[in-house]
Amino acid sequence: MTDRPVTDRPVTDRAATVRPGVTVTEVGLRDGLQLEDVRLATEDKARLVGALAEAGLRRIEVGSFVSAKAVPSMADTGAVLALVPRRSDVEYQVLVANERGVDDALAAGAGALNVVVAATETMNQRNVRRSVDESVSVLADAVKRAGDVPVAAILAVAFRCPYEGPVDPARARVLAERLVDSGAARVTLADTIGAADPDAVRHLVAAVRERRPEVELGFHGHDTRGLGVANVLAGVEAGLDGVDASVGGLGGCPFAGRGASGNVASEEVVGLLDAVGIPSGIDLDRLAAVGAELEDLLGHPLPSRRLALYKATGSAR
Ligand code: ZN
Repeated sequence: MTDRPVTDRPVTDRAATVRPGVTVTEVGLRDGLQLEDVRLATEDKARLVGALAEAGLRRIEVGSFVSAKAVPSMADTGAVLALVPRRSDVEYQVLVANERGVDDALAAGAGALNVVVAATETMNQRNVRRSVDESVSVLADAVKRAGDVPVAAILAVAFRCPYEGPVDPARARVLAERLVDSGAARVTLADTIGAADPDAVRHLVAAVRERRPEVELGFHGHDTRGLGVANVLAGVEAGLDGVDASVGGLGGCPFAGRGASGNVASEEVVGLLDAVGIPSGIDLDRLAAVGAELEDLLGHPLPSRRLALYKATGSAR
């Protein structure tokens, strides 16, 4: 078998729904690190954030302003924000869960706030001990308090809930519309437990897109069942503006037991976008170098296959 030159490749007509570029949001330092046993020093976190920005990431989740007792690894988020390089082209976002978190995040100079609302009552109660309606109110209140700082809504368990099972796509879609109508600057459909499949992602993205064409729409996926990148591609083809991912595939899944795969890996998402010719603005090898540094800091391997390729060959491409 010989390698065919690239020019032999048949031209693919990508759907008209594909955006001219996709924003990859790095969430490893929040969603990934909060499940790690190893605690990173504040200076190391800030240095990794700076290196991610240098690799071309334009939106980076640096932590959360939630109870330090509940999530001790996020207690230094304010200190991380104070250390990261201030750049007009990079947005540093943080997760908040209540009024106090909103005020603390704004005082610390966060560039954007994320509020999570689950698609099921049981998940929302377990997550923040509130009803879904109450969490929608928290979002609306955060939008008012934040002024010019954008507030994004994450629709957790938008596809499947560990307590209630499959989520009715119509329910998820209606809730996503409510989040838009409550003032969310963008809405991220989250496959929190990595149980979605490409058809489900395509369907929900298209359904929300059809009813709220103006909203900035994102997808947050986990690779628990090996469908992470396939789900991202399905969503991108249906019109996503952005994708959450974590460097190295850092993290796990609190509902899938120890050793479960974490967020879809940033290197694998960027590699996918590169492969299908959708600009992300991110340099894959510089990103993989950050993953390699993170592995060293944590002292254990990370699951990203592109990172493994980078370490073996010097390039993730
Ligand atoms: Zn997640």
